Amino acid sequence: MAFEGLASKLQEAMKKLKGKGKLTEKDIKMAMREVKLALLEADVNFKVVKNFVKTVGEKCTGSEVMESLTPGQQVVKIVNDELSSLMGDESKEINLKANGISVIMLVGLQGAGKTTMGGKLATHLRKNNKRPLLVACDIYRPAAIKQLQVVGKSIDVPVFSMGDKVNPVDIAKAGIEHAKANDNNVVIIDTAGRLHIDEELMQELKDVKECVEPDEILLVVDSMTGQDAVNVATTFDELLNIDGVVLTKLDGDTRGGAALSIKAMTGKPIKFAGIGEKLNDLEVFHPDRMASRILG
Ligand code: GDP
Repeated sequence: MAFEGLASKLQEAMKKLKGKGKLTEKDIKMAMREVKLALLEADVNFKVVKNFVKTVGEKCTGSEVMESLTPGQQVVKIVNDELSSLMGDESKEINLKANGISVIMLVGLQGAGKTTMGGKLATHLRKNNKRPLLVACDIYRPAAIKQLQVVGKSIDVPVFSMGDKVNPVDIAKAGIEHAKANDNNVVIIDTAGRLHIDEELMQELKDVKECVEPDEILLVVDSMTGQDAVNVATTFDELLNIDGVVLTKLDGDTRGGAALSIKAMTGKPIKFAGIGEKLNDLEVFHPDRMASRILG
């Protein structure tokens, strides 16, 4: 399960506080030390941890908590609220036009789960009465186009491709024309990924962005890569000014460092979480529910 390790450690720390009547500043200090360790072990960014513990510690030593009849529970509530706020508090929707064709550009490193996410997003949008079209702009990875076609076929969503000899900018442009002609109202562009960020790839993504003016640039990152995912998000955001992040493979991420650091480090919200390999395994990311899940 996601956050397993963090959840049990934080719950343990909170249990100790809840078991006490009055709390002293020393109790809070001890608890904050445990919270700090738990977050660091979960691979949360060091700066994020430091700020988190400072804010929570200050709030917990305030008179409302210390003089309350149930101080332990107040502390749990503060930790819960701050965890939720760390992840962005409310869930954020993707930007779609009320009328006309919306364009979503999916970007990210190879293997992050971009193509799978294209299928998941198309499934999600169709449930919301949209008519998605998937556009295959990854012309480099062998079999990427085929993979998208297989995904599209399995969910009965059309896939537009022009093979691997046409420039991705031209494919994207033609894909939007195709959507117009075929009454699709959301175009999901599956772009190329590399194993690492490289300049050529970024230039290509910038060119596609400039040409299609997407309503939403969603960065797909693998949550299991922890702080690497955060670094990837920071770089993609600097270069492309992304609108949101999709965290994939959260089902296998026992730590949670990426989920807890990305919003704080980039300012950009996590909008969806991938929680399995199937095309239905997509969740809208709800920071508040995620926080409650961690604290049990
Ligand atoms: P791309 O290179 O970014 O297009 O990545 P793919 O979509 O091909 O996904 C890479 C691998 O990750 C595939 O084996 C997917 O089945 C798997 N995958 C994608 N999303 C998830 C997820 O949310 N959970 C799990 N467990 N596996 C996933």
